[in-house]
Order: sequence, then C-alpha cells, then structure tokens
Amino acid sequence: MQIIKVKFLKGDAPSGKPYTYYSPVAVAVGDKVQITETAVGVVVAVDVPEVEVAPYRDKLKTIIGLVEAPPERSSEKVAYAPPEVYDPLAATEAQSKLCNERSVPHFAPKSGRCWRCGQNIYLPGKKYYSTTSRKMERTDRDSVGISVERAGREHITGCPHCNWSFCE
Ligand SMILES: [Zn+2]
Repeated sequence: MQIIKVKFLKGDAPSGKPYTYYSPVAVAVGDKVQITETAVGVVVAVDVPEVEVAPYRDKLKTIIGLVEAPPERSSEKVAYAPPEVYDPLAATEAQSKLCNERSVPHFAPKSGRCWRCGQNIYLPGKKYYSTTSRKMERTDRDSVGISVERAGREHITGCPHCNWSFCE
C-alpha cells in the first residue's frame, strides 16, 4: 500500500503538521482525501519510503480514500422537461421529414384528423374506445395527442386517441 503524508484541512486550508498514513487508493499531491469519517485532508507527499516509517509502521492508519465528488444534481435535470408543443401543421411537417429520412410510408393523415374518432392526432383530446358494435365511444379520459417533438421522433402508425391503426 502507498504511504502518504497528509495535512488536515480546516475549512479549505491545510493546518498543522503532516501525518503519515497508508492509502488504499492511488493519490497524488494536492488530492483531497477522507482521512476518517469526519476528517478531510490534503495530500502533501506520496510514495514515502518505508524506511522512514519503519519505526512506527505498526501504528500507521489507513485513510478511507479520496474525497467523493459531490453527486451531480441529476434530479434537477430530470425535473426540467420542456413543455410539449402541439401544432398540427408543424407536427405533420416533422412527421413527413421523418418518413422521408427513414424511407417509411407516411401513414398519419396529412390533415392530422383521425378519420375514425374525428379528433386531431396532433392535439390533446379524449380517449376513445371501440365498442363491440365497432362504434366509437368517447370517454372522459384525457388523451395527450402527438406533440411536434414526438412527431419528429416517432413513426406514427396509429391514432393516439382511439388507437386506430392508420396502416391497415
Ligand atoms: Zn382516432
């Protein structure tokens, strides 16, 4: 194990004389290390020769390791989502572009209007379901519709409101 010298940190400033420790991980001069659960230090020397510590090597303690970088505040990134933009014209264009790029048929109605439930697939609407008589029934449940962003990302094959497949 590497033998290092560290100075304890008071706030951000090293204080006192250097102490010798074993380090379970490779460290470099200037690294901040966790000496104990509560004490942080800065490395002032590495690869201390064993002969230098020989008289008291049995008493040498081992540091915990490098100070963990504070975890990235990923929650903030997740929490932020741009609001969905609904625009049938822009969405149709986005879908056309995607179909061209992927060489797939443009199944979605160009007007955006589903010929089954009569709602615009590129606007929020209400969920519909088919009854046994193949009639469409409107429900009170909201249906999100296809945003401009989604129209530029997904190949649309069906109505988001009534699940009618445009490719049959
Ligand atoms: Zn529909």
